[in-house]
Formats: sequence, structure tokens, C-alpha cells
Amino acid sequence: MSITKLDKNQRLSKAGIIAFPENGEPYIVGSRCKKCGKLHFPTTTLCTVCYSEELENASLSHEGTIYSVTTVYSGVPGFKTPYLLAWIDLDDSRLAAQLDWDPARNNELTLGQKVRLVVDVLRHADDGCEIVGYKFKPIFTDGGNRA
Ligand SMILES: [Zn+2]
Repeated sequence: MSITKLDKNQRLSKAGIIAFPENGEPYIVGSRCKKCGKLHFPTTTLCTVCYSEELENASLSHEGTIYSVTTVYSGVPGFKTPYLLAWIDLDDSRLAAQLDWDPARNNELTLGQKVRLVVDVLRHADDGCEIVGYKFKPIFTDGGNRA
């Protein structure tokens, strides 16, 4: 279950990286080129395809597939290890993200595995704040939403 609104003790991992619409699911914010339609992530002010400077904020897709995955045993401060880090292919982009999945069960995952966006706490900051960002949770075609 995604966080749908930030609490007082929470902040985003990077300002503006996730949007929380009044009606609808939170989404990862990218930049869509108004000229050629290319979706960029992270956001940018220049399209690297057609060099247009006319871009607007747009939602990245909520679902994607695992391109590659690895287990991280030695993380940066604040991150509980081990955790799974994956490259996720979305419709228009590829990004690195934590997987919302038990690292001890990584043998149940396959490349191409479907995943879905989860907006959740990634780590705790020194000042006690919860740092919120995006993760992806494996989803299975048998409908099982395995914990
Ligand atoms: Zn463009």
C-alpha cells in the first residue's frame, strides 16, 4: 500500500520526485517533451532527443518489469541491509529502485518479472524524519500478492 500523502515527519528523497494528486495514485514525476513526446527521468529542461526546451511534468508508469536485480549488503547510512536493488523498465524509461521484497526470497524473482510502484519510507534520516520515495513490488500473474 502506497503512502498517499506526506505526514509532518516525512519528506521526499528528492524534492518533487513524487506527485500526490488529490484524486488518484501517487506517481513518479518525469518530464515529457511537448514536441516529440519523449518521457525523461529524472526531470529535465532539455529534451535529449529533439533538443526542445518545451517539457511538462508527467507521470511515469505505475508498472514495469525487472531488467536486473542485485542484493545490497553494504548500504549507505540509514538504509537497512540487505535489500534488493533493481533496474526497472517502465514504458518509456529505465530507473534504479529498491524492491519491496524479502532479499532471502530473491530466487522467486525472474528477469522480466512484473512490478508495481509503491510509494513508501526508504530510510530514516538523522533528524528522525522518514525519507519517502519509490520502490517497486513484484506482482504475479497468478494474482498472488505475496508478502
Ligand atoms: Zn523532444
